Amino acid sequence: MSDHVRVCIVGAGFSGISAAINLRRAGVTDLVILERAGCVGGAWQANTYPGCACDVQSRLYELQVAPWPEWSRKFAGQREIRDYLDRVVEMFGLASSIQVNTELTSAIWDDSALVWNISTSVGTFTADYLISACGGLTEPLTPLVPGMADFTGAVMHTARWDHDFDLDGKRVAVVGTGASSIQVVPAIAPVVDQLVLLQRTPPWILPRRDRAVPHWYKRLLASVPLVQQCARSITMRSRDLQVLSFTKQGFWRATGERIARRHLRAQVPDEKLRRRVTPTYDMGCKRILLSDDYYPALGRDNVTLAAGLSRMNATGVTDADGVDYIVDVVIWATGFKVLDPPIASVVRGINGDTLTEVLAATEMAAYRGTAVSGFPNLFILQGPNTGLGHSSVVLMSEAQIDYIISAIVSGAIYDVDQQVQRDYVQRIDRSLSGSVWQTGGCHSWYQDDHGRNVALWPGSTRAFAEMMKTFDSTSYHVRARQDMSYVDS
Ligand code: NAP
Repeated sequence: MSDHVRVCIVGAGFSGISAAINLRRAGVTDLVILERAGCVGGAWQANTYPGCACDVQSRLYELQVAPWPEWSRKFAGQREIRDYLDRVVEMFGLASSIQVNTELTSAIWDDSALVWNISTSVGTFTADYLISACGGLTEPLTPLVPGMADFTGAVMHTARWDHDFDLDGKRVAVVGTGASSIQVVPAIAPVVDQLVLLQRTPPWILPRRDRAVPHWYKRLLASVPLVQQCARSITMRSRDLQVLSFTKQGFWRATGERIARRHLRAQVPDEKLRRRVTPTYDMGCKRILLSDDYYPALGRDNVTLAAGLSRMNATGVTDADGVDYIVDVVIWATGFKVLDPPIASVVRGINGDTLTEVLAATEMAAYRGTAVSGFPNLFILQGPNTGLGHSSVVLMSEAQIDYIISAIVSGAIYDVDQQVQRDYVQRIDRSLSGSVWQTGGCHSWYQDDHGRNVALWPGSTRAFAEMMKTFDSTSYHVRARQDMSYVDS
C-alpha cells in the first residue's frame, strides 16, 4: 500500500467497484478499494443464506458499464450476482486496486494537510478523497430479547449464515418475516424437522413470477446491444412508475393491494392462516416483497406460524402469545443496523466528531444522500435517503458516482454548506410527508425512532439521476489545493 492515494474507496460491492471503474475512466487512476472480507461482492458475498436472491430484475441489477446478457433468470440468485461482480473486476483489471481482508479502523480529516488520515487493519496512509461504499444494509441487527443469553442451542443471522451447521432434521425458529425471511423459509422448510416462524408484522407480498431467461433471448441481447439497452430502459421506466403507488394514494396502490390479496387467496386456502398473514397497514408502508413459494411453505405440516418473539430460555423461544417452542437453532431474519451505517463510528470530520455522532444529532441529514457538512471530501454512496421501495439501488449509486466524479476530478476540497444541507433535508421530508411510508400505519426500518424516514428517496430513479447530473459546487465551501492538475495522465 502506498503512503498516499488520491481516492480511498471503502467496500468492494456494487457501489465501490462501480466508483473505481468510473473514476478510472475519468482519468483518476490513483485509487484503492479497501474490503474487509476476503473477496469482493459486498452484500452479495455476506448474504449466503439458502434461497438468497435479488428481488429486483437482473436487467436493472447490473452496472451500466458492464451489461450482462447472460443472466440465467429474471431475478438472479446470490451466487450468480457475486460471480458477476468477480467477472466485472476481472474485465476491468481492477484486482490490483482492491485490498481484501483490510478493514478501515479509522479515517480522520486533517484540516491543515487537507487529507484523510486512514488507518486500516494492515497499515496507514493518506487520501485526498474518501468514498464510503459500504451500503446501509450491512451490519446485522439482532434484537435484544429477555433470556437470549440462556439459550443453549445454535444461533445465526441470515446475513452471517453458518454453512457448517446442518439443518437437516433440526427444530428451527426463524425470527422475522421481512425480505430475507420470506426467501429462507421456503428454502429450508423441506429440510428441517420443524420450523416455527415468529411473525410480528405480516408483509405485503406480490407474485414474483421468476423465470429462466431463454437461450435465444440471451443471444439476442448479446448480439444487439440496442435490444439490451431498450430492455433495461423499459424495465427502469416501468419500475419508476411504481413510485406513484407510494407517493400518491389511488389507482396504483389499490391495484397493488388487489393483486396481493388475490395472490394470498390463491396461495393460502386456510382462512384462519390467511387472516393471520393479512397485513393491517397500507401496502408499501414496509418494503413490498415478492414470492411465489413463501405462502405455500407456511401451509406445510412441519411449519408453524407463531406470534412475535417475546422471550428465550435454555431450550427455545416463547412467542408473544406465551406459547413455548423447543428448538435447536434460532435464525435471526431481523434485518440490519440502518441507523448506524458501517464505518461511521470510525470516520471523524473537521470538528473531531464521528460521523455516527453527527448523523445521530441531525437525524441522518446528508446532502443529496452523498455529503455531510463537516466532513470535507467524504462522499457516501447509498447514503441517507437514497434507498428505494421500487427499483434498483445500483441506479442510485451510479448517479451518485457521476456526481462526485466532477468534484474529484477538480482536485479541490468540498465541504457542503450546513444551511444548504438543512434546506435539502427539509425538502426531502416535505416530499416524504404524504407518502405511504409515513402515513401507511406501520413502523419500518426506513424510519428512525422519531419517525423520520432516513432511508428512502421520495421520487423516481430518473429524477435522482437528473438531480445528480451536475456537481453544484456552489452548495459547498470550496478550497483549492495547490496542485490542481488532478487527472492522472
Ligand atoms: P427486515 O425487512 O428489516 O425484516 C426484519 C424482520 O424482523 C421484520 O419482519 C421484523 O418485524 C422482524 N423482527 C424484528 N424483531 C422481531 C422480534 N422480536 N420478533 C419477531 N420479529 C421481529 O430485514 P430483512 O428481511 O433482512 O431485509 C432488510 C432489507 O434488506 C430489505 O427490506 C431489502 O431492502 C434488503 N433485502 C433485499 C433482498 C433482495 O432480494 N434484494 C433480500 C433480502 C433483504 P416488524 O416488521 O414487526 O418490525
